[in-house]
Amino acid sequence: MYGRYGMSYWKNLATELEERFGGEGTGTFLYDQPLGAHTTLGIGGPADVIYIPAAAEALSFFLGRTAEKDSPVFFLGQGSNLLVADLGYRGAVVKISAEDHGGIKRQGEMLRVGAGALLPTVVEFAAAEGLSGLEFAAGIPGSMGGAAVVNAGAYDGDMGGVVTEINGMDRQGRRASLRGEKLAYRYRESSAQKSGFLVSEVVLALKQDTPERVKDRLAENLKERRASQPLDVPSAGCVFKNPPGKEAWRLVDEAGLKGVCRGGAQVSEKHTNFIINRGGAKAADYKQLMEEVVAEVERRSGIHLAREIITLGFDDNVAN
Ligand SMILES: Cc1cc2nc3c(=O)[nH]c(=O)nc-3n(C[C@H](O)[C@H](O)[C@H](O)COP(=O)(O)OP(=O)(O)OC[C@H]3O[C@@H](n4cnc5c(N)ncnc54)[C@H](O)[C@@H]3O)c2cc1C
Repeated sequence: MYGRYGMSYWKNLATELEERFGGEGTGTFLYDQPLGAHTTLGIGGPADVIYIPAAAEALSFFLGRTAEKDSPVFFLGQGSNLLVADLGYRGAVVKISAEDHGGIKRQGEMLRVGAGALLPTVVEFAAAEGLSGLEFAAGIPGSMGGAAVVNAGAYDGDMGGVVTEINGMDRQGRRASLRGEKLAYRYRESSAQKSGFLVSEVVLALKQDTPERVKDRLAENLKERRASQPLDVPSAGCVFKNPPGKEAWRLVDEAGLKGVCRGGAQVSEKHTNFIINRGGAKAADYKQLMEEVVAEVERRSGIHLAREIITLGFDDNVAN
């Protein structure tokens, strides 16, 4: 199924890129492939095209061309915070891969990390170097770029506390940087997400400690995570943000929703802010269950739960 841009539009664009940058400089185009395979939930239909760029030049050109035509583009990391609609996404998904954009470089107490680097790899790298500051991220899946954009956090820490600079491109493909106040970090929010910024590199300011001490703190956080979260079944982590002064899981629990199922989607019995795919869940089941949880929690407590999970392709196939 193709959107108003049609398969020939994307194929022509791919050909144009390959003529300019060569196959290796361009990267890979995948047509009509289920996005579920690119998410931890394993749910969701196809994008018109998935573009996995090999190099910045080709990516910049791609963004410029698609911005001129106002064609829909969504940036994807590891899809660990993402629910994709059953009908997929009518547009292009740009996937920043670990293979092509996963470098990690140490400069003093700073790390320069490619946006595609897997967060667990970055956390391990920092620990081996005895650099402290990322212990809160023990066990958070996903990419460095995704974590920096959504301001991933746990155990009283978040990316906003360690990220000093984000480098990448604006929606037109022009190189751009965000630093300090311009990053506008708030709880699970950043300016990068609001402005549609493509992150290619993240700079982290850490503190020298010893590998042993950093590894001990990581192990403690991991132990706690394993004890409290359903890590052996597909999920996208916490579905709802914690309202000020409250814990979303507790509100869901108190609303009597633990274990409730809609199709293959289920409010986890282990952690009630996780909705898991217990097998064959459709995005429609998942979305319905999220909506029912919001309504029931609001009815019981008067508190509206805002979503932490990002959805793609639902409202007229537009990212929301
Ligand atoms: C078991 C489990 C546990 C989790 N625990 C936590 C937790 O403790 N704390 C927490 O905060 N999250 C948690 N999560 C959610 C998720 O892992 C994080 O939000 C993660 O940082 C998302 O990274 P990603 O690469 O998978 O991003 P995606 O899911 O691919 O994308 C998330 C958002 O980031 C944007 N994005 C991704 N990459 C880029 C890029 N290069 N440039 C621009 N935009 C980009 C996307 O457009 C999207 O808006 C958990 C998830 C799971 C499955």
